[in-house]
Amino acid sequence: MRNKAIGCLIIFLAALIVGLYFVGPSVRDKLFTTQVASEDTITTTRQSTTNETTTAATTVSQTQTTTHIQQVVTTTAPQNSVYTEKEENVWATRDVNIRAKPTTNSKQVGKLHEGNKILRLAKGTDGWSRVMFEGEVCYIYSEYLTTTEPFKVSSNRTVIDPTGEDWNLVVVNTKREIPADYVPKLAEVASSGVYMDYRVAPYYNAMYEAAKKDGIILTPYSGYRSYARQQRNYNNLTQQYMTQYSLSKEDAAAKAATVILPPGTSEHNLGLAMDICNTNSTFKNQKEYKWLTEHAHEYGFILRYTAEKQPITGIIPEPWHWRFVGVEYAEKIKNSGLCLEEYLGIE
Ligand SMILES: [Zn+2]
Repeated sequence: MRNKAIGCLIIFLAALIVGLYFVGPSVRDKLFTTQVASEDTITTTRQSTTNETTTAATTVSQTQTTTHIQQVVTTTAPQNSVYTEKEENVWATRDVNIRAKPTTNSKQVGKLHEGNKILRLAKGTDGWSRVMFEGEVCYIYSEYLTTTEPFKVSSNRTVIDPTGEDWNLVVVNTKREIPADYVPKLAEVASSGVYMDYRVAPYYNAMYEAAKKDGIILTPYSGYRSYARQQRNYNNLTQQYMTQYSLSKEDAAAKAATVILPPGTSEHNLGLAMDICNTNSTFKNQKEYKWLTEHAHEYGFILRYTAEKQPITGIIPEPWHWRFVGVEYAEKIKNSGLCLEEYLGIE
């Protein structure tokens, strides 16, 4: 009796599998396509339905009675995907790839950084948004786009160009910031998984090796930090202060700025600074700090934030934060006793 039941079940399952094979891909896809959580994990099942020659406007008629949907046409991508045309500005909620076609298999034509704006032309039921990028129609995964403009603190900061010949003397501070889309070319230092501007990394490595010979390990603690990461940290703290202290956005943002530098105003966003060993105020009593005060300038690094210069830099003393300016300037600036702003004559 029991064996008979199991036998029936096996026959039923086999029939089901064979049946599914013959009903065609559309039903299989409906049954087995899972909800997609991330642009990078889009299933191959979805891509298997892609038919780039389909241009039929079969769905237009059914939407003509709906007044608030302007126009609906099917796309060149998945057969059953519908794109609702509506021009609107959207912002990226994280760094996201821009694709030539609505599939992760297609060419990556660019990147939209977190918080940056792009014009959306239409939104598809396949999870992709059609956008205008550098004059071309491209695609971004809709999950990472929002129609709500992200919170941004108004500021009177000057936006400076960090790409010039004097890249090593670029100053960012509470009054000067770099553009949101600036990403330096990076290189790893001391095989640590920490990165700096590729032009600076060889100097850090040389300093690291020299110190090592003296029995000093200059552990790279924090080097390059992305604009997006700085923005996320800063915005989170601002939001926290708004709730915690019932402050306005402006007041909360100003308070947050005393703890985390606003995005684009940190030397870590430039890739020119390294926090060495740790970020404890007691670092100034360590032998690593002593070694740095004696030798860092020989490798182009200066101590950037001292107690004495806090009224000018606006930053608390940071004995761990060393900034690359190049060997020539490091020696001159050290001997002058001036901070970078004073030496260069900028506010
Ligand atoms: Zn630092």
